Amino acid sequence: MPFAVRVHATGGPEALVYEDVPVADPSPGEVLLRQRAIGVNFIDVYHRNGLYKLESLPAIIGSEGAGDVIAVGPGVSRFKVGDRAAYAGSIGGYAEVRAVRAERLVKLPDGIDYDTAAAMLLQGMTVRYLLRETYRVGPETTMLLHAAAGGVGLIACQWAHALGATIIGTVSSDEKAELAMENGCTYTINTKRDDFVSGVREYTNGNGCDVVYDSVGKDTFPQSLDCLKPRGLWVSFGNSSGPVPPFPLTALKGSLFATRPTLLAYTATPRDLEDNAAELFQMVLSKQIRITINHRYPLSRAADAHRDLEARRTTGSIILIP
Ligand code: NDP
Repeated sequence: MPFAVRVHATGGPEALVYEDVPVADPSPGEVLLRQRAIGVNFIDVYHRNGLYKLESLPAIIGSEGAGDVIAVGPGVSRFKVGDRAAYAGSIGGYAEVRAVRAERLVKLPDGIDYDTAAAMLLQGMTVRYLLRETYRVGPETTMLLHAAAGGVGLIACQWAHALGATIIGTVSSDEKAELAMENGCTYTINTKRDDFVSGVREYTNGNGCDVVYDSVGKDTFPQSLDCLKPRGLWVSFGNSSGPVPPFPLTALKGSLFATRPTLLAYTATPRDLEDNAAELFQMVLSKQIRITINHRYPLSRAADAHRDLEARRTTGSIILIP
């Protein structure tokens, strides 16, 4: 029987149980994937600890992976046995073998290996919509990017740099600052030492940023709003430190805009998903973006991956190897 990592009761990293879990034949519209690499993302922590509700328990968490198609269910014509494929945003990922709905899968082009695909699809497509759709970043843009040395962060630094933006990145150590700069960040602020609102004022000559990409949540609210120009956009897309508390609309004084985007909303149709993934693959294949995988763990040690991610010990992307 194949192994998977399940949550029986939400909680800390110890809630992740590595065990035998039977896999059924694929249902209509599904594909069975033998996974070669599995992405670890902060959303996995929210599923494990209960911040985001799981439909039922026990549940296999994990939303990203890459591997080989080993069976196709009735009605699937886009995939065949032997295809290399990957997905992002489909829960059930921490498993050796899993079923995925074919409409959530993309084929892997030659030149994208399994590790890279599993490390980047979720974070890279997120960066794509954040920089290209939520706000159209360009050479005139000055942006604040929190957690600039993280998985989303390092990809965002490179992509925003390729678009010509001025990027102010926050990090929690000098090593992370160096890494963010190597990946295209223009300035960094070490939040363990310096106040990021003052840092932004200094780097923008008091003007503020056009857009703030905030995945930290509780700890950076409402200060992130103080980093914006009048009519600037606050993009609150994560809760690494906990959720943003409810706030009055008057917090957006200065004609600020606020949005709370999700990858699923930007890849809702198979067409959106294909286009989004194709643009990411092109950025990687043309070497404008390099995916940094600094942490690999066997699937059986998923709990250690979560411990390191939550303790802010990781940089770049994290994968599990089944
Ligand atoms: P990261 O690799 O970025 O890890 C999180 C980072 O956040 C840490 O390394 C740390 O960087 C920073 N951080 C700040 N405060 C805390 C805290 N209290 N606890 C833990 N970390 C903290 O993770 P991912 O790349 O997987 O995800 C980044 C964020 O993007 C997450 O919030 C995630 O939910 C969000 N996300 C949202 C998506 C969407 O569509 N809405 C899709 C994908 C991701 P440092 O130590 O340098 O401060």
